Amino acid sequence: MGSALDKYSEICGPDVIDQLRQLVAPLKGAKVIHVNSTRKGGGVAEILAKLVPLKKELGIDVSWEVIEGDADFFKCTKGFHNALQGNKVEIPRSLLTNYEETNRRNSEDLRSKLEDADIVFIHDPQPASLLDYCPDRKGKWIWRCHIDASRPYRPVWKYLRNFVSGYDASIFSLAAFAQPLPHVEYLIAPSIDPLSEKNIELDPSEIESVVSGLGVDLERPIMTQVSRFDIFKDPVGVIRAYRLTKKFIPTLQLILAGGEATDDPEALSVLDDVRTAANDDPDIHIMLLPADAHRSINAIQRASDIVLQKSLKEGFGLTVTEAMWKGKPVIGGDTGGIRIQVVNHQTGFLSNTPEGAALRARYLLFHRDLLQEMGEKARNFVRENFLLTRHLREYLTLMVSLLHGRGDRIELE
Ligand code: UDP
Repeated sequence: MGSALDKYSEICGPDVIDQLRQLVAPLKGAKVIHVNSTRKGGGVAEILAKLVPLKKELGIDVSWEVIEGDADFFKCTKGFHNALQGNKVEIPRSLLTNYEETNRRNSEDLRSKLEDADIVFIHDPQPASLLDYCPDRKGKWIWRCHIDASRPYRPVWKYLRNFVSGYDASIFSLAAFAQPLPHVEYLIAPSIDPLSEKNIELDPSEIESVVSGLGVDLERPIMTQVSRFDIFKDPVGVIRAYRLTKKFIPTLQLILAGGEATDDPEALSVLDDVRTAANDDPDIHIMLLPADAHRSINAIQRASDIVLQKSLKEGFGLTVTEAMWKGKPVIGGDTGGIRIQVVNHQTGFLSNTPEGAALRARYLLFHRDLLQEMGEKARNFVRENFLLTRHLREYLTLMVSLLHGRGDRIELE
């Protein structure tokens, strides 16, 4: 048995691993490729960095390719992202032409590999038009949408749907996000890796040295949001919730930890707004951590008393899962993937406004026993539903069904 699988077995039980081995048997020899647009920063890279090695360890011939693009390409795809999440975004024809041209250029390097693969997973809109440049593909192509596409801005979705319609299947994180498409659609929620640097247990001394090294006082209560500086993550709303809570708990500190995902050109302007809203408050710590500062994020999440994820739209929200796994009830925006993680009043609180978030934060800070009880429920909920092993099981099931689904039944070993 491989080493990582042994360790997962300790956390999830041997039956879970046996089931993965059974599912992978019909996929022996299959060539699988995942494609996205960044190796670091954001939830998709976070998931692929863990999912791909585990598939490999199970014996799948899997690789992870990253497409490259210039600033205009990412400006365009950020527009897609915002439009899928409901914003009215008019994308100029010149940017769309550059988008298609960028995919065509990337296909020059990737084409033979992609056409030869048995299964290709294309993540999000950035590489979606690659399919058009691989006319001799032999395998099944799956479009994996990580975004809350429940109410997309129609003209942009119409444009993207032209590319996506050619796929054999698509995956959405939640039923509410699925859009009518002329192929089979799967629902698979994302997951976290309990063995990653981001999520492993840390020694209290390490937590202390990381967090105090960042200038935060561990003796005083800490409220945190870990997120890219993105308008949909509502960091300014978080500052407002912090200020309202601080009226009652004057020692409160706020950490806003974010990095700059390489495919997010709007981060700097959001960061400006955040700095203006923070107004030099010495108890607000705005941290621009490198994309691979996983242990520091881990330490920050563990040191926090209150974790917020005040998103206005959220595809899933791995930061929610990460905090819950660390025994923190999360106060989250009542939207998208946060709704399937935060069971209101059980594993955290859902709230639509800074005022609501502040009310819940105050309540939890004044009721520490309840905070702990909800935190334990949150951790168990993640163990049952949002660990990598469950995610992998669903991906394997999907691959088996796509490759062998024509028979009356599929025999596993
Ligand atoms: N993250 C990080 N450093 C940061 C900000 C975020 O490592 O400064 C990680 C975070 O821990 C999580 C992922 O990036 O694993 C963000 O995923 P999520 O689904 O919450 O949001 P997305 O960025 O994909 O919208």
